[in-house]
This record gives sequence, structure tokens and C-alpha cells, in this order.
Amino acid sequence: MLKVACTMKPLKFVDAHIHLSDEEYTEKVEEIILDAKNSNVVALVSNSMNLETSIKSLELAERYNRMVYAALGIHPWNVNTLTEEELQQTTELIMKQRWNKAIVAIGEVGLDCKYEKIWEKQLKVFDEMLRLAEKLSLPIIVHSRGTTPQIVDMLPSYNLKKILLHWFSNPISILPKVIERGYYISEGPPAAYSNGIREVVKKVPLTNLLTETDGPVRYFKSPFNGKMTTPAFISTVVGAIAEIKRISVEEAADRIARNFEEFFGVKINSRGGDA
Ligand SMILES: [Zn+2]
Repeated sequence: MLKVACTMKPLKFVDAHIHLSDEEYTEKVEEIILDAKNSNVVALVSNSMNLETSIKSLELAERYNRMVYAALGIHPWNVNTLTEEELQQTTELIMKQRWNKAIVAIGEVGLDCKYEKIWEKQLKVFDEMLRLAEKLSLPIIVHSRGTTPQIVDMLPSYNLKKILLHWFSNPISILPKVIERGYYISEGPPAAYSNGIREVVKKVPLTNLLTETDGPVRYFKSPFNGKMTTPAFISTVVGAIAEIKRISVEEAADRIARNFEEFFGVKINSRGGDA
């Protein structure tokens, strides 16, 4: 009997930036994980906003071992209500759990231009998070709405090895510097419809790209049409990247999965977790 070797590998997709610890997902985590498995999303990084979601992200990463990973930290949107005690407790939690394999990054941290009134406090908290990443040699996941140039200027004063600018949108003119320094960029559903984001994808080498949903977010434009994010969106994002880069979906998915492994220092389990 003639044996035909099958060389087709199953596609492996990754979500480097999701807020699995968000309240909106509380009742839906099982559903999201199942949806991820059914859509070949084999690894997700649960980003945190404050102490409470950091604890939750850690629990989720332990429950869905090697499928969900945790990024812990204080988001600039939470700086306003942040107490000194909470900041200290979050820092202590991260330090104590440093050798927990479930933790792969400090995130989501950064600066947001919409919260100008608390700029000084944002700077203080971001500095604290960056120093923590430096001390613990952890990658950082950065939120930089309207603040990318300031953040890019600040980062060299810290000894940070791995930096991910999540949902990078502008200014395009800063991209050569960002690429030269080896930063990573993650893009999500807008890669399928936004000319600005497609331009970013075009300019960033595939070796520096990661995919994300940033869920829970509702994307209104086609092909998402107001639907709430699910891991299934990742295949559309990878499809858009492949189209922009003029490569096959297999090649794009494979390289992005390898980027995920290199950036977060983990080995992807292609079956998607322990289960
Ligand atoms: Zn986010």
C-alpha cells in the first residue's frame, strides 16, 4: 500500500494581549478558552490592569497551565485610583511570584495622553513598573496612546531586554527607531480594516510582529461588524498580515508563534495547554 506522508502542520495562533481577567469575561472564561482551542489559538497572555486583575490573571494562568500566561502590572487608566498600598502590594506580588512560570511579562503598563491631569502620577507608576521589569528581567507590554515618542525616548534609560508596544498606531515616523532597537509590535483586528494599522504591519518586519485581540473590545468595522472579540478573530488578523506581507497564512502563523516563544521565553504547547 502506498503511504503518503502528510507534511501539513496544524496552524498555531497566539493572542499576546487579552484581558482575560476583565469583569466582562468572568462568566465567559471557559467559553473563551474553548473558542481558542477550536480556533487553533494555542497560547494567550492575560494582561492586567491593577492588583485585583493581576491576582486573577495569575489564577487563570495557573488554571489553564501552558495555554494562558500572565502579565502583571498597573495600567495607566488605573493610576488615578491607585493607592500607595496597592502599588506596593502589586510590586510585592510580582516579586514574590517571579519564578512562577505562569508569569511571562509586566503588563499592561505605560502612559496615556488622555489622562494628562495625573501625568506625574502616571510617570511615577510607569517608572516603578519599568524598574521592576529591569530588576526581574521580565519583558514589558506597553500601552502608549498618544505617548509613543515620549515612551520611546524614556526606555533606553532602563536596562530592558524585551519590549512590546501593543496596538502601535502612530507616529509611523518613529517605526525605524523602534525596529532598530528590536522592539516588538502587536496588532489586532484593525489589521483587517484600518489603513493606518496596515501601514504599520507593512513596515514592521515579520520577526517583530505579534497578534492580539485586546479583548474584551467590540470592533465595529467589517469583517467584525460590532461583534465582541473572541480568539477566533486571530485567524483573520493573521490572514490580514499574510496578505499585507504577501506570504502564506501558514508562514505568517508559524513565524508569529515563534516570535511569541522568543518574546515571552516559553515553549508553545501545540495542543493548547495541559487539558
Ligand atoms: Zn490592553
